[in-house]
Amino acid sequence: MSGPVTTADAPASGAAAPPVGANGVEIIPGREAMVGAVPVRRVLPRRPRRTVGAWCFADHMGPMSVTQDNGVDIGPHPHTGLHTVTWLIAGELLHHDSLGSEQLIRPGQLNLMTAGQGVAHAEEATPQYEGEMHGVQFWVAQPDATRHGPASFEHHADLPQVELPGADARVLVGEFAGAASAARADTPLVGVDLRLRAATTVPVQRRFEHALIVLAGAVIVDGTRVTPGALAYLGIDRDELSLSTDGPARALLIGGEPFPEPIVMAWNFVGRSRDELATAARQWNDEDERFGRVRSALARIPAPVPA
Ligand code: MN
Repeated sequence: MSGPVTTADAPASGAAAPPVGANGVEIIPGREAMVGAVPVRRVLPRRPRRTVGAWCFADHMGPMSVTQDNGVDIGPHPHTGLHTVTWLIAGELLHHDSLGSEQLIRPGQLNLMTAGQGVAHAEEATPQYEGEMHGVQFWVAQPDATRHGPASFEHHADLPQVELPGADARVLVGEFAGAASAARADTPLVGVDLRLRAATTVPVQRRFEHALIVLAGAVIVDGTRVTPGALAYLGIDRDELSLSTDGPARALLIGGEPFPEPIVMAWNFVGRSRDELATAARQWNDEDERFGRVRSALARIPAPVPA
């Protein structure tokens, strides 16, 4: 998926809001946006919450109906300084990137692309798929220690699953309830897909801040009802989360150590200064070798020229 992140989402730079303590639930409404022909609800970055751990962007895509003439087609575009984490609930997508990766992704599988100093990719509908499309794409900010490093791509078809009373969980990233995902994480991070049938208590790490993104149904946390289209920020200093539902529900739990480095985001880039991001935008538009080439029939998406 492609941003673009604009100042409508959150200020382009500045420090993140301080984490709140364990007894607060902050409901932050998402913003409806279009990514190509795809309606999304952008729940990160938002004012006042720009990051949850290193998670810095989240687009909840669909649910929508796709046909052979109307699908997800995001042409080649670049990224820097972030990982893209793609997770589908329904549908399928074909990923092409400048490393030469070509990967079909289906529900239950995770695509994780590391941009480092630069990568480009395209996300396309598959010719045969018709039906529901529903998923999330996250970006995770890379720390200074790795953000100038090489790009890479991982596909994880077999993620650990955990059975809990009232719920089952799939561990996308990090460690949860004794199960660890093999997906790359450059900073302490967790991402879990929770399917809730009834009230449940899930263990979390005290030093992490957490947030919940409900994909379907409703989840009640600390007496606050959370529904699709918002980010429920849960703060730091919790050992567990008590969740309840009034019917089947599905939610993504994300968390991590508060990201210590102030980041700057613009369009599809994460960096540390506006100059750095302007250089990346110019290089993409000049077809600089930094971003390589993507094998895709779709048109390249030009970077907005910085003011
Ligand atoms: Mn993208």
